[in-house]
Amino acid sequence: MATPLTASKLVQILRAEGLTVHEVRNWRTHNRNSKGAWGPLNGVMIHHTVTSGTDASVDICYDGYSGLPGPLCHGVIDKKGHVHLVGNGRANHAGLGDGDVLRAVVNETQLPSDNEADTDGNRHFYGFECINLGDGKDPWPEAQKEAIEKVSAAICRAHGWSERSVIGHKEWQPGKIDPRGFTMDSMRTRIANRLKGKPPTTPPKPSYVPFPGSAFFHVGQKSAVITAMGRRLVAEGCGRYESGPGPAWTEADRKSYAAWQQKQGYKGKDADGIPGKKTWDALKVPR
Ligand SMILES: [Zn+2]
Repeated sequence: MATPLTASKLVQILRAEGLTVHEVRNWRTHNRNSKGAWGPLNGVMIHHTVTSGTDASVDICYDGYSGLPGPLCHGVIDKKGHVHLVGNGRANHAGLGDGDVLRAVVNETQLPSDNEADTDGNRHFYGFECINLGDGKDPWPEAQKEAIEKVSAAICRAHGWSERSVIGHKEWQPGKIDPRGFTMDSMRTRIANRLKGKPPTTPPKPSYVPFPGSAFFHVGQKSAVITAMGRRLVAEGCGRYESGPGPAWTEADRKSYAAWQQKQGYKGKDADGIPGKKTWDALKVPR
């Protein structure tokens, strides 16, 4: 039993867990609180959308449709594992489910089978809709499953819950089949393992492009890595570009990189403008 997280707190814990979070329109004040109670919160419910395409799926979860107004959940988890927040407060995702299941979630005990629809779930559960057709064929990319794991673990940690507070819609409401394509037991095991780890205290460090090897840099090479490198060289005051930087490796890239090598203390042949591992790692080219 818990007081709902504020919008800012939810964003903060999801980002701290290493997730990419998109805030959709006015999600912070978008809810169904005028239609019924919101809270106390007892768990997290996982769904699949039966839709495809990120933008269309996010829109329908924000807006709902005739007969079922939005928000249809709190967050949408796309195939890349990004989280799109669409609602904060009561949302139309859980419907009526089994009160015995709710009791088991509250007590974090073994789930009974859901054979009744006697309890308002929208009051008690955070809901996450995962983009999947739910036909048993549409794949669940690892990035998406990892995001489900992270979202669930972040919320459980914030409330002091275990993995047993995370259920699938199909475990709540008779007749529901979502999510389909992985078992909730396997997901709960992943969440439990994540909860055993150290809680994240700071967002993970940005990741940099690993050194691609000196042979990568030659005339005729074209890559977004070279553009990113050029931007970093300019930022370090080493840009020797008349235009650009761009993706194609040019003499201007070589001269700019040579300036960076000199700035790092290299001279002569060691500052020939062809990147080496040490100066590359020092440059910290973002992905
Ligand atoms: Zn559902």
